[in-house]
Amino acid sequence: MSISKGIALITGSAQGIGRSIALRLARDGFDVALNDLPNKDAKLELVATEIERLGRKVCVIPADVTVNEQVKEMVNDAVTKLGGLDVMVANAGVVTLASLVSSTVESWDHTLSVNARGPYLCYKYAAMQMIEQGRGGRIIGASSIAGKMGLPYNSSYTASKFAIRGLTQAAAVELGQYGITVNTYAPGAIQTPMTEAMMDESGNADYAPLVDDPCSRKWMMSLLENVPIKHVGQPEDIASIVSYLASKEAHFITGQCISVDGGISMN
Ligand code: NAD
Repeated sequence: MSISKGIALITGSAQGIGRSIALRLARDGFDVALNDLPNKDAKLELVATEIERLGRKVCVIPADVTVNEQVKEMVNDAVTKLGGLDVMVANAGVVTLASLVSSTVESWDHTLSVNARGPYLCYKYAAMQMIEQGRGGRIIGASSIAGKMGLPYNSSYTASKFAIRGLTQAAAVELGQYGITVNTYAPGAIQTPMTEAMMDESGNADYAPLVDDPCSRKWMMSLLENVPIKHVGQPEDIASIVSYLASKEAHFITGQCISVDGGISMN
């Protein structure tokens, strides 16, 4: 086993973008703590096996990122099992598509809870640990193209992804003095289980079954049909920017929300 580059914790890493980030950081030389909801245990174990094969230390910590005590324990567990915390990736997220007028308060609360309260708790407990260790750190969150522009049928999701940008900027100001950088990635459409219902197998957007209002559907389709880079976004496209943000070389980048969307957000 080569010398460890540090310890990284990635939430929502049983599948999709989180899984890809976990594998990439392991390849980069980090020991990895994997988190997801308890019902994703079997998938987490599969990712853990892949990381072990790469010759890195790994542990699995199921927890719900919306629950204060569970996030606190998740960070403590990672520190106990792997020896510290250098990189926190608050990646876990949920999306619900509904028009503003048909959406429910329950769905709003759930989306904001996972996508904004979750990262807040992850940032907070990671920062406490990193400050105590006194060796700097990297805190990285998941925003979205919906954190840079309002998307129809996505009011709660859009609000939550703007929220994490605000949280990131405020935390970046406070934590810079400790050598801790705080940034977010903003994916465009990436082929993962989250987007299965919105994309066909070739990666073409298909909003017809989900967005019944023709005006909103046309707006979304024209956005997605005019992406300058003709490539179907993959989880690895996000993992590579996280790899850089987690590296020592990225020490002078903080408070940023980096678009990885083939250029959609220029529109
Ligand atoms: P995904 O649905 O495939 O994976 C998300 C994971 O988060 C799941 O395994 C889920 O179980 C986990 N999760 C949900 N609630 C949780 C909770 N309370 N506690 C712990 N884990 C929880 O999604 P993905 O496409 O891999 O997205 C990852 C992140 O990137 C999300 O924050 C998402 O909003 C963001 N994002 C994705 C896209 C995209 O096109 N896929 C675009 C923009 C932003």
